[in-house]
Formats: sequence, structure tokens, C-alpha cells
Amino acid sequence: SGPPPPVEHLSPADLFIAVKTTGRYHRQRLQLLLDTWISRNMQQTYVFTDGEDKELRKRMGANLINTNCSAAHNRQALSCKMALEYDTFIKTDKKWFCHVDDDNYLNVGSLLKLLSQYTHTQDVYIGRPSLERPIEATERLGSTETVRFWFATGGAGFCLSRGLALKMKPWASDGTFMATAEHIRLPDDCTVGYIVEALLGASLIRSALFHSHLENLGLVSDIHNQVTLSYSTAENNRNTVNVKGPLSVNEDPTRFRSVHCLLYPDTAWCPSPWRL
Ligand code: UDP
Ligand code: MN
Repeated sequence: SGPPPPVEHLSPADLFIAVKTTGRYHRQRLQLLLDTWISRNMQQTYVFTDGEDKELRKRMGANLINTNCSAAHNRQALSCKMALEYDTFIKTDKKWFCHVDDDNYLNVGSLLKLLSQYTHTQDVYIGRPSLERPIEATERLGSTETVRFWFATGGAGFCLSRGLALKMKPWASDGTFMATAEHIRLPDDCTVGYIVEALLGASLIRSALFHSHLENLGLVSDIHNQVTLSYSTAENNRNTVNVKGPLSVNEDPTRFRSVHCLLYPDTAWCPSPWRL
């Protein structure tokens, strides 16, 4: 079988990739992404953070976006970043908006293959639902009825077509996204699902190629074709993909460097078994 033929030719320049991070993760998490997948996709990757960083600025230039959102891990702070990601995308002429967290590995080649099966002017919202059932929300000041909808978990990454993103404007642009998130009192990724499914009547397209650390990453096979990966290196709860090779778990605890060497064996710092 294999994937259906592309309906739209896509190149990396058609993508707007937003990476959400925070000051204390610049060195702890972002460095690894810059050394791996971002290094090959500098032009289309935008990092949304909450504090200035001279070194990061030197490396990313205008693609580092200091949101001035609070560095707290609360609903307001996180939806503030998502709002800026959305507004920044809308101002560009890119065909696709894709969001990832700073603990995601993004395989841009697989992503392009996936998105080329859709038309960017149509309504497309694609990612991995984090729950087995739709989430229920109670709208503030609205009816007492609950709304039910699916959303793509932000921790696995998701994409929106430009066509759909433009329709989201009344509830997402220029500050309205934060108000929408407050209206349902749910996190940023749920808010995207709410706007798409509950307000616009479009549907999440489920893809098994997106992965967060909420699933057992050790079970992911066919690493080459996955769109996103993630990791958790918490002492009591290690959860990473399985990639064999010369980089030990000590040298490469997240396994992202090993994944990168598997995908791009010609990378200068990859040990020889991959480069041969
Ligand atoms: N994050 C953030 N501000 C914070 C904490 C986290 O912007 O105060 C970002 C973080 O950089 C990551 C995302 O939110 O991109 C999810 O954070 P994390 O992976 O720590 O949490 P979890 O996956 O458990 O939700
Ligand atoms: Mn995470």
C-alpha cells in the first residue's frame, strides 16, 4: 500500500514551525533540538520563549521570539504563547502552521510527506488526540450545557492548514485566543480543539505519526517515518524511543541524537557506525 499520492507539492519553505519553550529550558532542552532537527530547518523554525537569551539570539536571530508572556506554567501563560504563535503565523504567507514542544523531535521530511496529502486551503487540523474520549467543557456565562470535542495534544505536536487558521481568527487572533481559553478554562491545546471542532465544526484528523511522552515510546517502531517523537528522562519514569547504536544512554539520554544520526548519518558529530 504505502501513503496516498500527494495532492499538493510542498517544500520546507511552506511550513511555519513553532517551538514552545521557557527560559529555564533553553540549555536543558532547546540546545539538543538546535543540535539535531532544528539545525536542518532553521529558516522555518520559530522559537517562542519568555525571556531574552543573548546566545540563543545569536544562533536564531529573528526566529527567536520573546513573547513577554509570563514564565509561569499556568493556563494564561501557556495560552499567551500559543496566541503569539498563531498571530505570528497569520502574518506570514506560509501554508501550514505546526506547533511542537521543546521535548519533541520533528522529522520535517515525514511531516512534508504527510501534509502533502492535504490541501492547505481546506480545513485541516491534524495530530494525536491525548484522550480516548472527547473532552467536555463548560462554557463560562454560556448555557449550562457542556460542549464535547476532540483536541490534538500539544505535547505530540499538531498542524493547522492556513485555510482553517484563517477561519479561526474571530476566536484566536490579536488577544482573543486568551479570552477563548478563559471562556472554557482549559489549556492552550484544548482551546485549539474547541475553536476548530466546537466553534467551526471541523474535525481533528488523527495521525499515529505524532508522539508525546504520554504514550509508551519504547513501542514506537519505524522511527524513519514518524513525524514527531518525545521523551521523558525523569529518574523514576524514563520513557524514550528505542534506538540502538554507539551513543550510550549516558551520552544520549533522550535518544534524540541517535534518532538524528539514524535519519542523517552524514552529520559531522555522528559516530562512525552511522557514517559508514
Ligand atoms: N513550558 C512553558 N512554560 C513553563 C513550563 C513549560 O512554556 O513554565 C513549556 C515547555 O517548554 C514545553 C511545554 O510547555 O514546551 C510542556 O512542558 P513540559 O514538557 O515540561 O510539561 P508536560 O509535557 O508534562 O505538560
Ligand atoms: Mn513534555
